[in-house]
Order: sequence, then structure tokens, then C-alpha cells
Amino acid sequence: MAPSDAHMINDIMADISASPSPFHVVETVASALAAEGFVGVNDHEPWPTEHGGFYLRRNGAIVAWAHQGQPAEAGFRIIGAHTDSPNLRLKPQPGTSKVGLAQVGVEVYGGVLLNSWLDRELGLSGRVVVRDGDDQKGVLVHTDDPLFVIPQLAIHLDREISTTGLLLNKQQHMAPIGGFAGSDDAKGAPEQPLALIAELADVDPADVLSHELMLHDVRPPQIYGYRKNLLAAPRIDNQLSCFVAQRVLTATAETPDSVPMIALFDHEEVGSTSASGAGSPLLASVLERSVSARGGDHGAFRRAIANSLLVSADGAHATHPNYADRHEPDHQIALNAGPVLKYNANERYATTAETAAAFRRACDRAGVPVQEFVTRTDLACGSTIGPISAAELGMATVDVGCPQLAMHSARETCGTDDAAMFHAALVELFTNP
Ligand code: ZN
Repeated sequence: MAPSDAHMINDIMADISASPSPFHVVETVASALAAEGFVGVNDHEPWPTEHGGFYLRRNGAIVAWAHQGQPAEAGFRIIGAHTDSPNLRLKPQPGTSKVGLAQVGVEVYGGVLLNSWLDRELGLSGRVVVRDGDDQKGVLVHTDDPLFVIPQLAIHLDREISTTGLLLNKQQHMAPIGGFAGSDDAKGAPEQPLALIAELADVDPADVLSHELMLHDVRPPQIYGYRKNLLAAPRIDNQLSCFVAQRVLTATAETPDSVPMIALFDHEEVGSTSASGAGSPLLASVLERSVSARGGDHGAFRRAIANSLLVSADGAHATHPNYADRHEPDHQIALNAGPVLKYNANERYATTAETAAAFRRACDRAGVPVQEFVTRTDLACGSTIGPISAAELGMATVDVGCPQLAMHSARETCGTDDAAMFHAALVELFTNP
């Protein structure tokens, strides 16, 4: 592996630390692209027709691409991924208290492994919309200051835990503690979170109009193991794919034959139906406008779609040593053993024999091993943005991803080498179709 590849996981760890919310993933990716000369465009104005790299942000989603004067019907090579991860999100009026302790009310976002959020120091991030004269503006906020903990009930008070397991009620048992109610200031518990939000947004509390805030584990990502080749980190699903995708785009921006693109959507963990999710017209509209900016008509757009390939990149389940029986016995997935092709006969993944073959050939050319995942026939299969985007666009799609353990835990595990192998395979796929 080249020395720069060995650093990739360290750089991605820094990106994960900087990105506790989907809005921050977009900010991190946009800043990295801007540093490489990419230019932001928006929905309201005509797009530049000259060559170059461009990105469009929409809330927690970002689409970015580069073209060098390719013909309008040139195929796109697209990496789709998602910026969101399951977590706990503040209610609109988050302040609450019980038995003298100040707490915040939270909603559970996506398929959270609730137990993984207990007994951890939690920070706060997201966006706040504040008054701006007669107008309003959004402000990104992020603090790793340990503000909250959700303490687990003592085992002495939960005698059934060893027989029935830990049962957590989302409303009753997941409210984090942040201090004492009304003791050391006159404000009292209900006002404390709103005062904190105003402080983070650097405005007067009266100027906070609304917020989308979420909690995160404040512990930074950590490489571990005898040989330091495992990574424990939050949000590996699916920030690993997002930050690999951004690096593939910058590495392939000068590709002459096809148009490289990344589409990082929000709201995958809650079904992708939103204005910034994979079920929205976001990607289709960018593709159409990119073709027309290069002088193409609708026929050229349809030809470009037919010439394109979408790589839906999302975490894959590595075989868990403590639960090996939950995995398909003839399709074992290992960490640090290369990207994973994901198959499902019921179209929970969009991989076809043709798209799998194209990805496998790219891995061969890059000298990267490739693995194949299929779920046990007696277990329901997860899904991702692949089938949604494939159905929306009618585009050839392959579902792939890096292997990981503990998907949807507040702290997941992956190998330290898989991101660089995934990157190498995707660069090959983008540059030598
Ligand atoms: Zn995912």
C-alpha cells in the first residue's frame, strides 16, 4: 500500500470527528472540495458551462461533480452514500426535569442500538436558525464539551436483565441528564437547554427561532488492537463511504471520458423520503442540469443515463465472531479483506450480475480483493439508497461497501485498511470504465 493510503484512515478519522451531524458532513466535504478548486452552485441561478468542479448543497445533502468538456451524452460515474447516522435528537422544547435533575427530551432517529448510548459523555451539534434583522439565517453548532449522560439503571434495581435482557423504553429511559433543576440559577431546567442553544449559536435566546440538534459520543475515533489495525469510531455507517467518495472525486476530477460525481444524501436511516433524501429529485435534477449545461437536449440526457453507473456505497456486515450463526455460512465477510459486493434476490440491494462484474474487474485491476455478501435466507435483509436511486433514475447500480461490526451502535468497528482498498477500487472504476 502506498504511504498516502496508510494516512487515509487517519485523515478520515479527523473528518469523522469534525462531522457529528449530516450538516457537518456536508460542510466537511464542501470545504475539502473548495480547497481543491471546486465551486459551489445553487438551485436558483444558471450553472457555469465552463470546465471544472462543482458542488450543490441542500440541507444535509451534497452533490458534487467535475467535467472537462466531455460530450453531453458522456456517462456519469456516481458514488451515492448517506450523510446521516442513527442518533438521538432534541425535541423542539427540550427542557425537562425529574426528581431535581435537569434533562433533555430526545427523539430516536433511525434504527438506534439504544444500549450503546448509555453511560457515555455526550456532546451536541446540528443547526440553529436564528433571527437576522428582518430575515433569518442558519448557524452550524458543534460542541464536544461533555454536556449529558444517560446513566443505565443499576443491576440491583433491574434483576431481570440477565434473563430477559435490557429493555429500554424510548420515551421513558433515554432522557439524558445535564445538571440540576433550577438550583444554581433562577432559570430552572426547562430554560437551560434553550439558553445553551443560544450560547452555542452566539445569539440572544430570544433570537433562536428553531433548531435541529443531535447528540454524539464525545470520544474521538481510536485505532486499536495488537497490531493497531482496527478502528473504533462513531458514524462509520456511513461517513466512511462519504469521505472515501469525496477523495475518489478529487482523485478522478480530470477523467476525460466519463463525468465523476458523488451524491451524499440525508435521511437514509429513516427511509430516504425527504427533500434531501435519495427518494427526492435531487440527483436527477443535477444530472439533467449538468447535461444541459454542456449543451445536451433531453435525448442526450437519456443517453447519458444509459451510459452511466451508480455505485451505492454503504457499510456491509462483517461476520461477528460472537454471533457467527447470524451470518450466511458460505458468504463470510472479514475486516481488512477488501470491499464487499452486496446481493439480494428481493432487490433490497440493486446489484446485478453486470454491475457486480464491472466492480469486480475494477478491483482486479486495482489489485484489491473483493468479498460477496448475501444475508441468511431466514433473516430479513437491510437496504440502502441503491434500489431507491436505481428505481428513480433507471440507472445501472451496484451496492458495495466496507465491512464493519456493530452497525448502528454509537461506536462501531471497522478495519483500518478497507477505506484505502475501497478508494483504490473506485478510482480504477472511475478512470478505466
Ligand atoms: Zn448505512
